[in-house]
Amino acid sequence: MVGFYFPDGNDEFEYDVRGLITSFFPGAEAVKLQEKPDAETALAYEQILAIPSFQEIRDKGERKNATKRCFYEQLSALTGGMTLPWGTLTGIRPTKLITAFLEAGHPEQDTEQAKGYRRLMKEQYLISDEKLDLAVRIAKEEQKVLENIHYQNGFSLYLGIPFCPSRCLYCSFTSYPIERFADRVDDYLTAMFREMDAVKALFSGRILDTVYIGGGTPTAISADQLDRLLDRLAGTFDTKQLQEFTVEAGRPDSITKEKLEVLKTYGVSRISVNPQSMNEKTLALIGRRHSVEETIEAFYLARELGFDNINMDLILGLPGEGPKEVEETLHQIKKLQPDSLTVHALAVKRASRLKMEAAGAVIPGPGQQASETMMRIAADGAAEMGLVPYYLYRQKNMAGNLENVGYAKPGKAGLYNILIMEEKQSIAALGAGTVSKAVHPDGRIERADDVKDLKEYIERIDEMIGRKRALWH
Ligand code: SF4
Repeated sequence: MVGFYFPDGNDEFEYDVRGLITSFFPGAEAVKLQEKPDAETALAYEQILAIPSFQEIRDKGERKNATKRCFYEQLSALTGGMTLPWGTLTGIRPTKLITAFLEAGHPEQDTEQAKGYRRLMKEQYLISDEKLDLAVRIAKEEQKVLENIHYQNGFSLYLGIPFCPSRCLYCSFTSYPIERFADRVDDYLTAMFREMDAVKALFSGRILDTVYIGGGTPTAISADQLDRLLDRLAGTFDTKQLQEFTVEAGRPDSITKEKLEVLKTYGVSRISVNPQSMNEKTLALIGRRHSVEETIEAFYLARELGFDNINMDLILGLPGEGPKEVEETLHQIKKLQPDSLTVHALAVKRASRLKMEAAGAVIPGPGQQASETMMRIAADGAAEMGLVPYYLYRQKNMAGNLENVGYAKPGKAGLYNILIMEEKQSIAALGAGTVSKAVHPDGRIERADDVKDLKEYIERIDEMIGRKRALWH
């Protein structure tokens, strides 16, 4: 438990401060104190931190940066000189800053202006050279990949199917085990169809650029239900100009020939078959309930049926895994040659962390060499397969305080993945636990969420529709 307080009571950057604390002490509870605790109370905390005030700085952005830098230095000193690869950048979209710089028409490299910008980034945010290079490379790739997207004139659609074959130990998504909730699927789809109709009306005249069906595991529902969903989608929206149609098949234990054929029939252009790890012991420990063999079979089955854009997701920092296990995973993946690879660093929320620790897992913290080494093994493996980094985001509570990176073959990058990170296009998200995002012409971003609970979602569907109308009217 880490306590912190603001001597002048000004807590305008409390959220950022919490982000930094959890970056240095992943999984620790950060407790805001009203005042400096007495000696006895202080004993209950690992550390007590006082946050200075920078009220004299008029610009809010600068005030925030100064507060975070000052706090970062305290935390670094407390942890024996630990540094974070992303410095004070605790947000989930570090490339946004770089993209803004490039879009302003600034040069990329080797000019005085670019060098000055690099210096500024390092001084302002204390970011490492390696991460800065990665962020610049990805920001440029993103610009290239998104050149045909209709920003104000278009939109993207996300459909959330919150069912899975079983619940993974580390899961922080909305997910219901299909065995227990199979009898709710049809009602769920019916509610979602009503949302589809409402969204169609709200986006009349705008171009649908991408569709992403995620979850959960969309292929956890039956082939007939998938057919019903995709048929309704095709009948509701004009998909003539669709640039990408992704279905996150996800769990290999949910994939069948019949379901893949349904996806093919409706023109799904990109799927995910997600191993997370290619080590049996790890899969058993994290509750995936599928084998390495099932992953390989599902992948080849999809290839046989003609899917030419298959993504695979990996998680680094899983319990019991070090560089050796990651090497093995990459060795197996290289034999499959997926079109893209999304590499996540494990992010566990407190509740999941406790569950994992109870199952014997040791979760790495920041500064642990293994995490950076694992990231490098994955990056090298991706490069050997001819995949280049094209998107990046960060989460709170990540193992080693690292990042998630998407790598893809040329022409196979996941457009929707970038769109959700860059926040330049409206995304209508349908289904329990989803969040819609309206990007207004003046750059303002507003959100509306759908309730997470399955039963509530079905019963309160009119209210969910109302929230979307309020967002886009
Ligand atoms: S497959 Fe994904 S959504 Fe489903 S339980 Fe596992 S982590 Fe959660």
